[in-house]
Amino acid sequence: MLDDREVERLEVEAVNSARTRQPLYTARQKVFPKLASGRFRQFKWLIMLITLGIYYLTPWLRWDRGPYAPDQAVLLDIANRRFYFFAIEIWPQEFFYVAGLLVMAGIGLFLVTSTVGRAWCGYTCPQTVWVDLFLVVERGIEGDRNARIKLDGAPWSFDKLWKRTAKHAIWLVIAVATGGAWIFYFADAPTLLGAFVTGQAAPVAYITVAILTATTYAFGGLMREQVCTYMCPWPRIQAAMLDENSLTVTYNDWRGEPRSRHAKKAAAEGLSVGDCVDCNACVAVCPMGIDIRDGQQLECITCALCIDACDSVMDKIGKERGLISYATLADYQSNMAVATDPVTTAIDPKRVRDDEGKLNAAIAHFRLGRIFRPRTFVYAGAWSLIGFALLFALLSRDRLEVNVLHDRNPQLVRLSDGSIRNGYTVKLLNMVPEPRNFELSIEGLPGAAMSVVGMDLPESRSITVEAEPDKLKTIRVYVRQPRENLADGQSFKFIVVDKAGSETDSYVAKFNVPEAGR
Ligand code: SF4
Ligand code: SF4
Repeated sequence: MLDDREVERLEVEAVNSARTRQPLYTARQKVFPKLASGRFRQFKWLIMLITLGIYYLTPWLRWDRGPYAPDQAVLLDIANRRFYFFAIEIWPQEFFYVAGLLVMAGIGLFLVTSTVGRAWCGYTCPQTVWVDLFLVVERGIEGDRNARIKLDGAPWSFDKLWKRTAKHAIWLVIAVATGGAWIFYFADAPTLLGAFVTGQAAPVAYITVAILTATTYAFGGLMREQVCTYMCPWPRIQAAMLDENSLTVTYNDWRGEPRSRHAKKAAAEGLSVGDCVDCNACVAVCPMGIDIRDGQQLECITCALCIDACDSVMDKIGKERGLISYATLADYQSNMAVATDPVTTAIDPKRVRDDEGKLNAAIAHFRLGRIFRPRTFVYAGAWSLIGFALLFALLSRDRLEVNVLHDRNPQLVRLSDGSIRNGYTVKLLNMVPEPRNFELSIEGLPGAAMSVVGMDLPESRSITVEAEPDKLKTIRVYVRQPRENLADGQSFKFIVVDKAGSETDSYVAKFNVPEAGR
């Protein structure tokens, strides 16, 4: 165990300190986050690998849909107006599934934020993930915090020039790969890659990659924390979703204050000191350039790296971990009430410790039960409800649709034998990627029969229509009813049945007769 005097103290100022907040239009002060190590950093590495892996590799996954559909597992085929997601194929009229998923994502974000604060910002937001990736490159070339600060302040030399050139070159490669991966979601990835590198791709592909390359490079490499602080609306919105039982990264000043760099000396002098040794490790690792000890701040993305930094300091000086921790406002306030001297209203660290120097029993710790409260039940309920509704709709949806348009002009034709003929445009939608034979029949309309324009078949009440895979089949149909069966206000059904399966659909149509037609 180290004496608190042996803990390394870092000379670092919070550039975004709540105490010294800068006016809006001042030059950015650079942030040089130190590499943190600990459980939250490990977890963030894992999330980074998963999210980047999903983003870059998904367009290259194949999914066999047979010879009539693309074999890319996830494909937004704008030209043919289809969205493929593994075994699911979404047609334009079914886009409510995607809308439903977006609503679920929104409610899921509410649920997560009300429960564990800005976990989205701290772990999975693309801005966070790409900044982390760019920082990996920066640290790999320029070194950790101190080396980067030194290099930044050094005059231009060969060493600085090659390091800066290499860093920006790799950033640009990442940015191009990021923009490139995006366009692969919209066309067959191997084909598009070949066309792209040989200059054969559509101009929109090059424009999209150029825009995404520029934004990735600028947001991830140059602007970093400014995107979260100044451009993103989420920090402002999330405040409405937090309550006193939401978990947020908290500096527990009820045990940390009064902070001291010379705790042993202060204690020997009879002064009461808290656990914070004012080493600034938490400030040095913060990618947002803030000091969590200033309290909750809009800039904090709850990445928890300051928890890792502080925990390792607490380990070194033999104190309990958790001086900075995920805590609820309710627990924090309760612990502050324990720590505050009622007379002086100052924090007295002795009040939170027992005779053995351990945190006493009055100190509240997070309990899992706090997550379950009306707000989270409502969010979880709405999320599940929409999820089940979408799943049910997906599993029970038809892959066959029939639509019918009655001829407007003429509405009817009287034939030489006195029978009446009506014309219809019948649209058969085959929504599976394989050819199908449909039986089209009419139900009702006594004595009537139909014929299909362009098909040399005798009149019948039922015909077979071949439909191409994944296509709309349009046919012109004449329905004729003998004179003796004519009646006013007749309607009947076109019924379509998949001959190889059980799928069926129908459409109720009207049969027009002349006013005094019989
Ligand atoms: S204060 Fe802590 S949790 Fe918040 S952004 Fe900085 S390091 Fe992350
Ligand atoms: S809160 Fe922890 S990491 Fe931050 S200065 Fe105090 S002891 Fe160091």
